[in-house]
Amino acid sequence: MLKIYIWPMKLLENKVAIVTGASRGIGEAVALKLAEHGAHVAFTYLSSEEKAKALEGRLTAFGIRARAYKSNAGVYAECEAMVNEVVKEFGTVDICVNNAGISKDNLLLRLTPEQWQEVIDINLGSVFNMTKQVIRPMMKAKKGSIINMSSIVGISGNAGQASYAASKAGILGFTMSVAKELGSRNIRCNAIAPGFIETDMTHYLKDGDASKKFLESIPLGRFGQAEEIANTALFLASDLSSYITGQVISACGGLNI
Ligand code: NAP
Repeated sequence: MLKIYIWPMKLLENKVAIVTGASRGIGEAVALKLAEHGAHVAFTYLSSEEKAKALEGRLTAFGIRARAYKSNAGVYAECEAMVNEVVKEFGTVDICVNNAGISKDNLLLRLTPEQWQEVIDINLGSVFNMTKQVIRPMMKAKKGSIINMSSIVGISGNAGQASYAASKAGILGFTMSVAKELGSRNIRCNAIAPGFIETDMTHYLKDGDASKKFLESIPLGRFGQAEEIANTALFLASDLSSYITGQVISACGGLNI
């Protein structure tokens, strides 16, 4: 007989989640969504101290524990120290959303080695730095969900975004490898590839002729909202996706078809 499982209203009750780069934009929306579903949330930021403190308050209003850490996701030692502190304070790590990222767009002819390296270190290096740390408590607990924020341009490429697209494509190879390596330990690793989402990172796309051109290429005819990416992260963090690993979910309004 087919077994039907009735899902609880809160999908992440008492789980411990880390979200990198959550002071603004997509990371902030993800942190709020995980907290709304009962997870305790430790999150990082780099420069937005005031916003991070304000977010701490908004998260604890859900009745969960929350803590902001100033930690550069592109620096291995800072990630190591941060995860050690989270394990000490929260006991374990069940979910890690590797979201922190930057873009330094430039045509290849003008792209400097320094610009290239910074984007690779922060966007791709951060995913290695954090995943390497969180798999220790996850292996001990024999469970975990790692979610890496890639981008649709990591699949299709984009003129003027060679470094950004390369970093986001690298995340996909990393995600599949980790899924293969740690599947037997019940640790899942997936990626999200957002399209154009309305945040500080994409504010310059919203106005003028460029905006019209972008909108015409999106079948749903609009830019995405950070909460729509947060909903995808919630699905991948929860047991609703218990048989999904090594996958990339394109949340891009159909831009990729
Ligand atoms: P955003 O609005 O610019 O916010 C970036 C966040 O990352 C901020 O909280 C920032 O912290 C943090 N951050 C940046 N560098 C960091 C570092 N070295 N260490 C720790 N935190 C750092 O960006 P977003 O649009 O929300 O993007 C979030 C992720 O989604 C990124 O990985 C991005 O590449 C990806 N993505 C975005 C889009 C889009 O359309 N928006 C599309 C595809 C993929 P501070 O505020 O403290 O500096």
